[in-house]
Amino acid sequence: MIYADYAASSPMLPEALETLARLSAQVYGNPSSLHSFGEEAAAVLDDARRKCAGMIGAEPDEILFTSGGTEADNLALRGAPWKWIAVSAAEHPAVLRTAESLKKQGTTVMILPVNASGETEVHLPANASGAGLVSVMLANNETGVIQPVKEMAALAHSRGALLHCDAVQGAGHIPIDVKELGADLMSVSAHKLGGPKGIGFLWIRRGIVLSPVLTGGGQEHGLRSGTESVPLIGSFGEACSQSVIRMNGDGLRLTKLRDRIERELMQLPDVRINGEGKRLPGILNLSFGGVGGEALTLMCDVNGIAVSSGSACHAGDERPSHVLTAMGVPERYVGSALRISLGWNTHEEDADGIISAVTEAVNTIRAMG
Ligand code: PLP
Repeated sequence: MIYADYAASSPMLPEALETLARLSAQVYGNPSSLHSFGEEAAAVLDDARRKCAGMIGAEPDEILFTSGGTEADNLALRGAPWKWIAVSAAEHPAVLRTAESLKKQGTTVMILPVNASGETEVHLPANASGAGLVSVMLANNETGVIQPVKEMAALAHSRGALLHCDAVQGAGHIPIDVKELGADLMSVSAHKLGGPKGIGFLWIRRGIVLSPVLTGGGQEHGLRSGTESVPLIGSFGEACSQSVIRMNGDGLRLTKLRDRIERELMQLPDVRINGEGKRLPGILNLSFGGVGGEALTLMCDVNGIAVSSGSACHAGDERPSHVLTAMGVPERYVGSALRISLGWNTHEEDADGIISAVTEAVNTIRAMG
């Protein structure tokens, strides 16, 4: 079986897995305890905070550990009484649904359009002015298309607002420098970059004050109460460090593999690429006219490859992809999208397997239809 669904979740990097096992067995103190077991646990958190911050060009004390990308997004959007919030139409549900929920509570919410290439248009409505928040992801989870975050940050600042970036898909795969981007808040999740599930962080630029969503013992500068998961955090830090080391090499290698898969599959009749802008190295989204995405995903599984129709969140969900719909992809192709996503353990021979399995699945379904 070939795994080609890294955008849903990545297998753990060996170094991160080893760290998780070692810390789970050996470092069991509570990082808030004053004794030496506590100190040992707190030192793991300090080290991980440095590694996580290093990956995005931030300062360690600006990193706040959360349970993952969803919680980080929620804290960014819910953590201040924003007068208005503007979000890209292509955001992950962790941002879109949170914005919808805030709208019900009275916040003005604006949805920013996406062009046919899958990029958010660099434009804000006239009423987007003053103490608001613009939320634009670094790269889209369905198409891999990289978003104009730097331009949106400049625009947000010119209106007196802040910029939150959901970097869950991009982090660890492309270089990030939060200062260069001009972002104010950034969400990252470990399991998309070879770390464990259930851990992430929100980067909060120094000087920005948020209110906690979870209250309790006052951990994480009082912003996220609950005993920190030392093994998950230590492993996350290791995954960040390793991702940075691997980034250039894997980026080039995966871009070549992705382009080869794309070239070969484009030979099939009635195929389109969804999202032709600048993309992450490992994500490819193709639609095969007349072939249902769910059926195709299941047939690919039978043929020995694990891929996704649209995004993992859409599995078993009959609703058409909001991302492809926002891009204006014709209806015929929205329901026939397949996301192939590659990662650190994808090799040349896997690309061959993906090409033949998808080709066979498309041909079989079309022959049945
Ligand atoms: N944001 C994006 C862009 C994602 O792709 C995902 C996961 O699919 C999330 C947020 C949610 O992250 P997590 O699974 O860590 O809660």
